[in-house]
Amino acid sequence: MPDDQFIDRARRLASRHLVADGEGFDFGRCDPADSGPFTDGDRAAAKESTKALLADGVRVLSEMQDKLYAQNRWSLLLVFQAMDAAGKDGVIKHVMSGINPQGCEVHSFKAPSAEELDHDFMWRCTRLAPRRGMIGIFNRSYYEEVLVVRVHREYLRGQQLPPELVGKSIWKERFQDMRKYERYLARNGTIIRKFFLHVSKDEQKRRFLERIDDPSKNWKFSAGDVSERAHWDEYMECYDDMIRATARPHAPWIVVPADNKWYTRLVVSSAIVEALASVDLHYPRMDDAARAQLAESRARLLAE
Ligand code: ATP
Ligand code: MG
Repeated sequence: MPDDQFIDRARRLASRHLVADGEGFDFGRCDPADSGPFTDGDRAAAKESTKALLADGVRVLSEMQDKLYAQNRWSLLLVFQAMDAAGKDGVIKHVMSGINPQGCEVHSFKAPSAEELDHDFMWRCTRLAPRRGMIGIFNRSYYEEVLVVRVHREYLRGQQLPPELVGKSIWKERFQDMRKYERYLARNGTIIRKFFLHVSKDEQKRRFLERIDDPSKNWKFSAGDVSERAHWDEYMECYDDMIRATARPHAPWIVVPADNKWYTRLVVSSAIVEALASVDLHYPRMDDAARAQLAESRARLLAE
């Protein structure tokens, strides 16, 4: 498939799940088992037919990344948020499989350290925002501050904030800070895409059981994961609120159905292609002086 056609297709697929304006967002209409246009026939056939698309996605992404890096103007920030076992790690591994490691950094944000807790809540993330030319991946992010910290208020108490600054509107204020920060980044040339991998509670249970039963997957499981699951509904409310408050055209959320891994990967890779296609990526253009210099170097090499 020619690249233009591929990019068009990626854009259409991504747009099915892209939330560019949180106000109209309706979480109730998002189905974790959705597989978009691939619903005809049996699931195995659909999965098979997307293999070529996934491979094309990896190739196109790698070409785009090459230009992003060479041009050194834009950067791309990809944020991944999800409940446990939704497939964040697998998606990152797959989508980035064709990417040049020199131009990409992955950062995972777990429970904060004492040093991190002694700073403003964005500090540990903002210092790792991608440089120009780079793709930065946040595996969890400052959004945990309106998710896990909202579900478990004791984490907020651990943040050493002056008590008079912790009022009823703390979550609204955090949303506002996130929106402002993302607008600031966008104005500085960072393309932002935020992914919520939306897995169902049933599918999470199935994947947990698999992690428990399969010795090669035991390491992925921790008993705490089951305790977090008990707060499922609270988490979903927080996600809903977060997406409505922070989805903007320059920093949209992509609510990715995550019960079928092949579809999750296709949507994420399509959304990244769409994001990079939204700006004018090109190799640095040589001016007359630079071209003259190239010609001179060429002549010297040939004269050796
Ligand atoms: P993951 O769960 O992302 O696949 P993991 O299992 O290797 O990774 P964990 O040790 O579970 O890593 O760390 C992630 C945990 O850290 C999540 O439960 C997350 O909610 C928690 N976390 C992240 N940021 C914060 C924060 N700011 N405050 C409290 N907990 C946080
Ligand atoms: Mg975990």
